[in-house]
Amino acid sequence: MAEKELLLEVVTPDRLVLSTGADVVVCPGVEGQFGVLPGHIPFLSALDIGEMYYRKGGQIEYLAVSGGFAEVTGEKVTIVAESAEKGREIDLERARRAQERAEKRLAAAKTENIDWARAEAAMRRSLVRAKVAGR
Ligand code: ATP
Repeated sequence: MAEKELLLEVVTPDRLVLSTGADVVVCPGVEGQFGVLPGHIPFLSALDIGEMYYRKGGQIEYLAVSGGFAEVTGEKVTIVAESAEKGREIDLERARRAQERAEKRLAAAKTENIDWARAEAAMRRSLVRAKVAGR
């Protein structure tokens, strides 16, 4: 690994999604997006549903992540997410179907009791996946 590079690892309960060197990592923290460069002070942040990306050389790669947390040290960023997909792994049609289901559920809230937070989270996951799939 080149000097002054971060090691980025993204894991979910199912799999190791990514293990790579990176020059910079940008994550969707619950308190807003944050960026990490090599040598960053150590910290821990909960993650929102959102897009994350990292740059390596001149290349930027995007992932969709939902929930979990990021552990940052000066040399390493570890993302432990509920789910995470690289752009090319995302099934766009599946994300669109999930979005339609969530839209219907949220629309039904006018007349019936629904689990709003759950439907809203499903909607946000589907929107982020659709966005990242196009990257
Ligand atoms: P769906 O209703 O389509 O399952 P979901 O938001 O409920 O969507 P999750 O519970 O967040 O799905 O994820 C379940 C698993 O399926 C995870 O491993 C996640 O990475 C994967 N996954 C979900 N949606 C997609 C997608 N559009 N393309 C690829 N993998 C997906």
